[in-house]
Formats: sequence, structure tokens, C-alpha cells
Amino acid sequence: MMAQYLEIKEAHADALLFYRMGDFYEMFFEDAVNAAEALDIALTKRGKHNDADIPMCGVPVHAAEGYLLTLIRKGFRVAVCEQMESPVEAKKRGSKSVVKRGVVRLVTPGTLTEDALLEARRHNFLACYAEVRDEAALAWADISTGAFHVMPLTSVRLSPELARLAPSELIVADGAEQVLHEPARDLGISLTPIGRASFDSTAAEKRICALFHVGALEAFGNFGRAEVSAMGALIDYLEITQKGKLPLLQTPLKESEDRVVQIDAATRRNLELTRSLSGGRAGSLLSVVDRTVTPGGARLLEQRLSSPSRNLDVIHGRLDAVSFAADDSLIAQDLRDALRKTPDLDRALSRLSLERGGPRDLAAIRNGLAQAATIAELCNAGDLPVLLATAVQNLTGFDDLLTLLDEALVAEPPLMARDGGFIAPGYDAELDEARTLRDEGRSVIAGFQKKYSEHTGITSLKIKHNNVLGYFIETTATHAEKMLNPPYSETYIHRQTTANQVRFTTVELSEIETRILNAGNHALEIEKRLYQRLSDEILTRAAQLNQAARGLAELDLTTALADLARGENWCRPQVDASRAFDIQGGRHPVVEHALRQQSGDAFIANDCDLSAEDGAAIWLLTGPNMAGKSTFLRQNALIALLAQMGSYVPAEQAYIGVVSQLFSRVGASDDLARGRSTFMVEMVETAAILNQADDHALVILDEIGRGTATYDGLSIAWATLEHLHAANKCRALFATHYHELTALAGNLEGVDNATVAVKEWEGEVIFLHEVHKGAADRSYGVQVAQLAGLPASVVERARVVLDQLEKTEREGGKQKALIDDLPLFSAAPPPPPPPKASPVADMLGEILPDELSPREALDLIYKLKEAA
Ligand code: ADP
Repeated sequence: MMAQYLEIKEAHADALLFYRMGDFYEMFFEDAVNAAEALDIALTKRGKHNDADIPMCGVPVHAAEGYLLTLIRKGFRVAVCEQMESPVEAKKRGSKSVVKRGVVRLVTPGTLTEDALLEARRHNFLACYAEVRDEAALAWADISTGAFHVMPLTSVRLSPELARLAPSELIVADGAEQVLHEPARDLGISLTPIGRASFDSTAAEKRICALFHVGALEAFGNFGRAEVSAMGALIDYLEITQKGKLPLLQTPLKESEDRVVQIDAATRRNLELTRSLSGGRAGSLLSVVDRTVTPGGARLLEQRLSSPSRNLDVIHGRLDAVSFAADDSLIAQDLRDALRKTPDLDRALSRLSLERGGPRDLAAIRNGLAQAATIAELCNAGDLPVLLATAVQNLTGFDDLLTLLDEALVAEPPLMARDGGFIAPGYDAELDEARTLRDEGRSVIAGFQKKYSEHTGITSLKIKHNNVLGYFIETTATHAEKMLNPPYSETYIHRQTTANQVRFTTVELSEIETRILNAGNHALEIEKRLYQRLSDEILTRAAQLNQAARGLAELDLTTALADLARGENWCRPQVDASRAFDIQGGRHPVVEHALRQQSGDAFIANDCDLSAEDGAAIWLLTGPNMAGKSTFLRQNALIALLAQMGSYVPAEQAYIGVVSQLFSRVGASDDLARGRSTFMVEMVETAAILNQADDHALVILDEIGRGTATYDGLSIAWATLEHLHAANKCRALFATHYHELTALAGNLEGVDNATVAVKEWEGEVIFLHEVHKGAADRSYGVQVAQLAGLPASVVERARVVLDQLEKTEREGGKQKALIDDLPLFSAAPPPPPPPKASPVADMLGEILPDELSPREALDLIYKLKEAA
């Protein structure tokens, strides 16, 4: 057995080997050590190899999914090795034969299909990056839904596209992984290098044609060498991991870079589109806009939010659909109720195609199609916008399949096909007959018990069943004596004696048992056959079923967005090809949501007008910390994104000229994990914007230059602003605490000052969160510091320094002189001593009001007056 183990292990050196032994998957040697630690299970030993103990650990097969999930999450790959024959079959080949085993599947992050291993509401993409000469391409697929895409790209676009798709695994050619190591790690993608041979584009083309049964690739569009190579390597990897069983992939959809808004990884992180800065879904834009009721709808939403469109027809088509659902809320509500009951068609289909499905997947298809029919019926009445009409159209045409499944399946089938019991009575005559025989046998046995009990006169005699003996008669040792002797011993054959019981059988009991067994097995055989037939029937309609699933997801997303728009009072944005950007009464959906949850405070809506005909349109935003600058910046970026994904937006009115690229940078964000100076990161990111932003870009810069000394920072911010204005000519919001920059507004056409208003009241600042045109007069840093709880002495000192600084500046003096003028901090007057304890205060401290009578209280007041 060890020899077999080692041979299989050698072929799967980069994976943990789950080696099937009976009811367990066992791991040996280093695998055992690693798995025991990762899974926190006991490490034992078994036998010896080269005179050393063999470390071993194991997990029960029935609980394997949970363990697999943990291992995959911890970055392992797992090769699942099954027994390919029963021990009995092995024995037949020779008494010393080891059971044949083989790896049936390699489990990797990008190739999961089980519900337990997947997040229902997220895609699970496997991506593949290929370079052929000076072309590059990215292909990606979700084998749990069949989605399959490819796009050519320039290598600098790889990282942003990976950030957009967030695949769980990326395949690259051997040797290419070094350069991708860092982006992959930052994005949490598991990197899998595979042999260069898999990327050969000629072989790849053959592989793709074979998979889709076409003679030439042109059937699906025009693909470059790199695209073919990426798709081919991806398919090859699927063949390797699925051991030849290929999932149902949809025909490849070619995407292009200019189809969607370009958003790089830093911007995504910054705007917290689908993940918050802390990494979870909570607190992200996705979490507050998600009102979908099906997993498919939720996946589509995440996809749309990650890839807002640049195509006006697409955007308008989606907005028309949302408007329709928002206006006709009755239909929308009925639709949502029906959608809520719809199972995940895509994933059931994918499991069936990989032969990992069960009767419940058949039932999921049946229930899904039944709901689809109801939904199509619901939508029948209205005059639907194109998007919805197409979606609804995709739901129909399944009557025959639905009837078949309806007739064939019971209402709630069991999990496993091998246990039987999922085919409805009346569907198959042969099956009904076998089941009747089996069940009749069982009632005959019940009759036997009565007969034997009367025959022997032993009323406590029972007929029981276990897996070893089958059916047997059981009686206590005292009564058994009688049955062991003639004349009874002629009928009752002794089988077994346990501590208290004696067990018998009879000829007729054995006969009927064989009949039951045969009938039972026969019934199971028939059910297995029928399962296969139903599964095949479904799979021949796979492409159409995928379309139906897509239709359901579209309906779900549309009604969910309509529900959001009505519930949150959002407006339909006007989007066109201009360079307008006029938002009135805009809000930040996530901050607004958080305020509502935490303090109940209302969010203050703000306008933003960056419309430009030609040239740049830039708002230079000043105002104290905590005033709401970042919130304002981000809300405008989010409004643009929401509009272009085809959603209503959190504003009273919004007019947006299509945004091609979105950039968002925050000054000196901490990036210790990558070991780069924060300022360096800030500059690298700013450079990317200045080099790339075109005149349809929207740029959000928050405190650029903050990460370095004042004059450096100011100069960089200054030059950056000028470059955005003169070279990029884009629409931009630029928040800064360098008040000196506000002077630029007067000189540069298209640059305006805006500020977030605060009120000063009795020496404290009150944040109004209102954005006005004009520059902030001061920064209120000292007041904010006081609010934050800096010691009073420090705040006081800061005020003195500030006053002096301002005075010197007004008088045109030099800072050097200022330092001389200001006594050093340590020389500052000591803080006033704490007030002396007063006798009144002491007396008050001792009073326990609950224990005083009114009379005593009055006396006390006299005493207090005296003491004061
Ligand atoms: P800044 O970038 O100016 O330091 P932030 O944008 O981080 O300020 O805002 C600070 C806090 O003020 C936010 O966390 C939020 O609670 C609140 N806030 C910001 N904008 C608004 C607004 N428009 N209405 C209500 N509260 C707001």
C-alpha cells in the first residue's frame, strides 16, 4: 500500500494527498504534519518507512468538506484519491492485491463547486494570464456557473483587471510567477504556475474547438494569439484538476478594456466598493446597496459594481429597466416574492455536469424552472423595457423539461442518489414493481413474527435486522433453550448467541430476505439509471438553462435596485457623452447608512458641479479635518459609479458625462505590509494618475503631499494640480490643507475653490458638513485637537504658537525670529495648580441623598451655606 501511496504522491507533489482508506481520507509523512497543524487534528503514526515512523492523520469522509474548506482557505491544494474498486474486487485479483486507487480531482481555490465550499453570493473566478510575444491576455471562468471570458490587455492593465475580477486563483506560465507575486498577494489571489506547454496557442486552439464542438474558433469572435493561449491553458488546467471531466463552460465572451470604467486596485480599495478597508463586506458600498434576494442576483450586482459600464446604450437600457420596476412597484414586489423562492440554477447545473450532483440538484432545477414559469407569467401583463423583456423571454421554453422533472421527482428528495427514494411513485412501472416487492416482503416479515411467536409460545420473540446477519429471530437465553431442541430445532436454525440473546433464522425467512434484498437493489439500480437520464436531459439544455439563470439574476438585480431607489429616495441620473458632472443634493450612501445606525444624525446633502466643455474642471476643497472633505470626495465618485453600473443614485439630481477612468488617492495611507514608505506609495500612485488620466477621467485626490515636509508637500500638490489642469484636462476634486493653493483658483481657468463650512462657537468648532464655494479662512486644527482630548496645556500652548505664527506672517516677519520670540515650551508658565479642595465640595462628596430625610436635607443646606 505504501508503494502505491508513494507513487501517487509523487505525481501530485504540490498538493496534499487525501488518500482514501475505507471511511477516512488519510495523509502521511509531511502532508500529515502540515495538515494536522492546519486542521488542528491529532497527528499519529502508522507503520515504518526506512526504519522511521510514518506520521499520519486522517479525516472522516462524511466530514471532509469542512476540512477541505479550511485547507483551501489556508492556501493548500488537495488531491483527492479514491478507491477505484471494492476490497472484494481487489481480493478476486489475488489475495495480496492492494485496492486500486486514483486521484479523481485536484481541489484548488479556483475550481470549487460544492455549496459548502463556495460563497453563494460571490463569483469564484479562476483566471489565466498569458503572454505571446508582445501580446498579453487574461481569460477567466467560474466553473460553478459556467461563465467564461477573455480579454486582450497591455501588461500594465493586468493588476487593475485582477483587482476588478478578484479571482481566487491565477494560472500563469512557469517562471512568470515572480513578477506577479506581489500583486497576487495584495489581492489575496492564489498563484499557480503551470508548464509552458499548456500555453501553446496551436494546441490551445484545438482544445477550445474540441470543448465547444466547433471546427474553427472564429465561430466565437476574433481572438489574438495571447487570448487563445490564455483560454487554452485555462481549459488544460481544468482538465488536469478535474481529471478529464470538464465543467460546462459557456462559449467564451470577448471583453475589451474600453468597455468598462477603468478603476485600479488602489482606487477600489480606497472607495471600498466591494470590500471595506478592514477587508470584510460590511461597510462596503456593496453591503449597503445589496437588496437582491437570490445568490445569482447578488453575484450579478457585485460584478456590475466592480465593472461599471462606459457604453451609453447599456447604461440607459439598465436605467430604463430600473425605472420601470421603480414605477410599477406592485409587479416588482410580486416578482421579488417569487424570486426569493428560486434556487441557484447555475450552481446546481455545474455540479450535475461534473458528476458531483445529487437528487437535490435535479430538484433545484425543477423548482427553479417552476418559479421561472411563474415569474414569466407575472411579467406577461406589462409592456416591458428591452432588458427585462429579454430576461423574461429567457425564462420560457422549458415546459417539457419541467413536466418531466415534475413527474419524475418526489417533492423533497434525499441528498444522495445512492440511497434511492427520489423518483416519484407512478413514474416508472418497473421501479414501482420492484418497490412493491420490497415493501411486501417487509410486511410478510412482520406477519412471520406473529406466526413464530404463536408457534413457539414465546410472546417476547422478535424479528430484527442488522447489516451483518440480515433479518433474524431474537429471543432471550432462557426462552432459547426450547428452540434449540426438537421439534423446534427443525424449523429454527441457530445463528448467534450474545450475552443475553440468542438469534435464529428459518428457511422461509432467508428466502424472503433474499427477495427483499434483490427487489431493493433492483429498485436502486433503476433509480440510478433514471437519475442519469434526468441529469443528461438537463445537461443537453445547459446553455439555455444558463440563459434562464441569467434572466432571473437580471430580474432580481433590477427589482433590487428599484427597491433601493424607492426606499432611499434616490434619483435617476442623466448620463450622456458630454463632460458634465453636476450633482445636486448628493449623499454618501455608506456614511449616511452608518450615521442612521449609530447616531440617528441626518446626512447633509451637498452639490458638486465639475461640468466642463473643454479643459479641466477642478474643485479645490479646503476645510478643517473632520469637516467632511473625504466624504464629499468619495460620494461624488460613488455617484458616478452607481450611475454607470445602471443604478439610481443618492442625490436629488445628477447629470453625468460618461466617466472613462476613475482614480482616487489618499495622501500617505499606511502600507507597512509592503514595506514601502508611505510617502513613496503616495507618489507612485499619484504618478500613475498623472500619466494615465484622460479628459473623461474623474480624479479624486485627498490630501496629496501630506506625507512629507510642509514645503515639499505644498510644492508637489501645487505641481500636481497644475498638471491635472494643463495636461490631463480632467474633472477632479482635490482636497488639501494647504491654504496657499487656493490662490491658484484665481489664475487657472476651470479651477474653483470650495470649502466645508464650520461654525465657531465659544471657542469650539461645530461641523456643519456643508460645502460652499470659496476658500476656508482657517483650519481649526487646534480646536479639533481639543475635541480629540489633547491635554489642555498642549492645546493652550498650540494657540499661543499659532497666534504668533499668524501675527509674524501678517507682519511679513521671518520664522527664525519667531522661534526666538517664543519662549520654549518647557519654559511656558506651568499649568495652573488644581483648585484647592473646598469644604463645600468635601461635604457634598459625602452626602448620600437616598438616605436623607427631607428634614435632614434642609439642615444640610443650612450647613453648606455656612461653609461657603
Ligand atoms: P475630513 O476628510 O474633512 O477629515 P471626513 O469626510 O472624514 O472629514 O468626515 C468626518 C466625519 O464627519 C464622517 O465620519 C461623518 O461621520 C461626518 N460627515 C462627513 N460628511 C458629512 C455630511 N455631509 N453629513 C453628515 N455628516 C458628515
